[in-house]
Amino acid sequence: MRLRLLVCAVVFSLLALGAARADELKLKIIAFNDFHGNLQSPGKFKANAQSPGVEAGGVDFLAGYVRHLKRENPNNVVVAAGDLVGASPLVSSLFHDQDTIEAMDRLGLEFSAVGNHEFDRGKKELLRKQYGGCFKPDGTQCEDAAGDSASFKGAKFKYLAANVFDTSTGKTLFPGYGVKTYDGVKVAFIGLTLKGTATIVVPSGIKGLRFGDEADAINGIVRKLRKQGIESFVVLIHEGGAQTTKGTPDINACEGGLRGTPIEGIVHKLDDAVDLVISAHTHQAYICQVANRTGRKIVVTSADSYGRLLTDIDVTIDTKTKDVTGITARNIVVDRTNEVGIAPDAELKEIVDHYAEVAAPIANRDVGSITADISKTLNPAGESPLGDLIADAQLEATSSTGSGGAVAAFMNVGGIRMDLPFTSNAAGVKGGSVTYGELFTIHPFGNTLVTMTLTGAQIKTMLEEQFKGCALESPGDGVSAPSTDRILQVSEGFTYTWSLDGAVCNKVDSSSMKINGTRVDPSAKYRVTVNNYLSDGGDQLSVLKQGTDLLGGPLDLDALAAYFAKHRPVAPGEPHRIGIKP
Ligand SMILES: [Zn+2]
Repeated sequence: MRLRLLVCAVVFSLLALGAARADELKLKIIAFNDFHGNLQSPGKFKANAQSPGVEAGGVDFLAGYVRHLKRENPNNVVVAAGDLVGASPLVSSLFHDQDTIEAMDRLGLEFSAVGNHEFDRGKKELLRKQYGGCFKPDGTQCEDAAGDSASFKGAKFKYLAANVFDTSTGKTLFPGYGVKTYDGVKVAFIGLTLKGTATIVVPSGIKGLRFGDEADAINGIVRKLRKQGIESFVVLIHEGGAQTTKGTPDINACEGGLRGTPIEGIVHKLDDAVDLVISAHTHQAYICQVANRTGRKIVVTSADSYGRLLTDIDVTIDTKTKDVTGITARNIVVDRTNEVGIAPDAELKEIVDHYAEVAAPIANRDVGSITADISKTLNPAGESPLGDLIADAQLEATSSTGSGGAVAAFMNVGGIRMDLPFTSNAAGVKGGSVTYGELFTIHPFGNTLVTMTLTGAQIKTMLEEQFKGCALESPGDGVSAPSTDRILQVSEGFTYTWSLDGAVCNKVDSSSMKINGTRVDPSAKYRVTVNNYLSDGGDQLSVLKQGTDLLGGPLDLDALAAYFAKHRPVAPGEPHRIGIKP
């Protein structure tokens, strides 16, 4: 019987690659995450510490790899775990990321979880990404900058949002799951974002939305669908972990077993019926096995970011029990050097080239120069040369009496997306020159500056709230305090010292807080500048919502460009504004 089955299987697999044994179904899941509008290759990628790095990514090659993998098994699905768009390079952002949505449809994406960055431009714009329509609701901006798509039709793939609730209706913003049927076997894909999304996006854009517990949302759907006879469950979740390896971890390893990371905590609570977790958010690569609530280990994957990796997952399902019986997963580099004979998608290449051409004059415009690399890497006190520069640019843009009268500026580290390299990759740009495209990549969110009045005591509170565990007010139901320190970058003239072992909400030494050498008086009033993400209470700096006499300023990007235009060349400074006591 066994032998006959085996012979059968061989013959069968020759006929249809998708089937193994008569009572088995083979399904191929092709997954990626955190694409962030990287239609063009972001550069070299190393698959492990020994790798010299290869040119990786670019949606043309990503699509080529997807097509290649799909050919291996007609029972397939392409899925993503969030942050497809948002914090995107100019080639995507300039066109409101519509070109990325179009490219995702062309490469065959079927389901994607929403990630935190899907909410960067607010709920309305995310709904437009799914359902289509003009960028401006009054119809004045229906055509994109490339002159295409008189009206944007929206994504064909389905966004999933199992834990994002409209507080007025109690319903989820998008469906929580999608189901595909293969040879009569139903497989459910459940998609969701991290519960903490509300603490890391502009609060005004997500008014009326509640981000619920991840495991509760997943388990609720599993219970419901099992009653309908579904037994195969795949989770697409925009939350993740990281390997403990220092340097470059192997993309297929799981050093440290994800212990102590947010995704481990979620998997520990999952219903035993969940078979596979495709994770994201941390821009890390791993293939792990993590215990669920019964102690059974399930596969948890993540494919780094920017379309440089794909996870190739082969799933075996028993057609009688309709349940998953085996999973093998591996991360593969989307290698553009083409040694494995995978061709890029010619049509997508043409589309991306077209958008890049429209964006090129804007992207390559010379806006300034630098004398050396300016890095966003933080020193132990939490300060970086690029953070200093950006805070200075924001102070300069808002310091005159007419523009706000600011005496200090504070910038969130999450809003600084890229280093400023002395040698740019952009074609035809010589060393030291700074392009608009580079500044755009640093500040892709379109945030504006806001100058407000705070007391010295409120500034002290703000500095305390940037440390883990000291959020004075919870911004929403079920939202926890920041899980890591988010130290603000400060402008020239503002100095202070904090203690590593200081108590929660008492880490900053008040007597060390100075503006241009003068001690900050708790009861005096100061004009300070932040961006609208922070003034809205972003990063859980809730005290900033108490600022008075608010004055709107320019875009953060315009302030930075103006700074580079005025100071030419700009040299990286030595961080010295924030002090730390061990
Ligand atoms: Zn994310």
